[in-house]
Amino acid sequence: MSVLVVGSTALDSIKTPKAENPRLLGGSASHAAVAASFFAPVKLIGIVGDDFPKRYVNLYRRHGIDLEGLQIVPGSTFHWAGEYEVNMNNRRTLKTELGVFETFSPKLPSAHQDVPFVLLANIAPGLQSHVLDQMRRPKFVIADTMDLWLNIALPDLLKLLPRVDAFVLNDSEARQLTKEDNIVASLKKLHRLGPKYVIVKKGEHGSLVSSPRGMFIAPAFPLGKVVDPTGAGDSFVGGLIGYLASSKGPIEANLRRAVVHGSAVASFCCEGFGLTRTTRVKRQDIDARVRQIESLVRF
Ligand code: AMP
Repeated sequence: MSVLVVGSTALDSIKTPKAENPRLLGGSASHAAVAASFFAPVKLIGIVGDDFPKRYVNLYRRHGIDLEGLQIVPGSTFHWAGEYEVNMNNRRTLKTELGVFETFSPKLPSAHQDVPFVLLANIAPGLQSHVLDQMRRPKFVIADTMDLWLNIALPDLLKLLPRVDAFVLNDSEARQLTKEDNIVASLKKLHRLGPKYVIVKKGEHGSLVSSPRGMFIAPAFPLGKVVDPTGAGDSFVGGLIGYLASSKGPIEANLRRAVVHGSAVASFCCEGFGLTRTTRVKRQDIDARVRQIESLVRF
């Protein structure tokens, strides 16, 4: 089954203590769409300016991503710049230039409205709802977010949450949203906001899934060297929904394996700048990493 991905389609300028790379292909939707494409057909909804390099359009195409919903309009592509500290975990946003995203109000092509799996990757929650409004009875909807929206668009996010099946956020965002330090108490409050499944990302420490069947803890793959973690969260959720879309049977039965596949794709993302490493990965590399993760936690 196909996956619809909406989110940011960006040019990222990324600085780490070791290197600096300007105008890489980035954005939550780009990372998530490429990650999902290893498992299922993907339709991308986004907007870029006429400065968007053709080679990036070709990169989406090489991953079989349907670009009918990608608008290319006069103006500048969303540009984000960030800098990592030596520990490669703490990140500072240096620049967010919305460009053509300022006026983005996607109208979904008819064929897109029936896609069963929907990923509302990180973008303003009002826009996430606008896309969801146009879908006809999706089977499974996941929403991702970031601290910015908790700070400036909380009412929109709270309106969206009862409409999604799964909500993905990181541990500090969970704390901020629920005002709970204890993760178990925080999860309870998050379910009360609407979603049946809540997935809390804990960076290099993996993720925690809470569902009606209980909790599941998935490790991150332990990497010897992190080159650039930008987009790891988006790759995680993209891999997760792609795997679910490719699996038979109920969501609940596949969710744990889906999360581990998401972790595996996210680990590749961290091994190169932007999407450079992820786009060189093959499905068998992901499967091998999933087996390694499995052997790390079996006892
Ligand atoms: P992550 O590392 O998973 O948090 O995602 C990083 C990606 O988020 C980058 O590729 C950025 O282009 C994108 N991004 C940064 N700020 C925003 C924003 N305000 N809205 C949407 N996407 C953003």
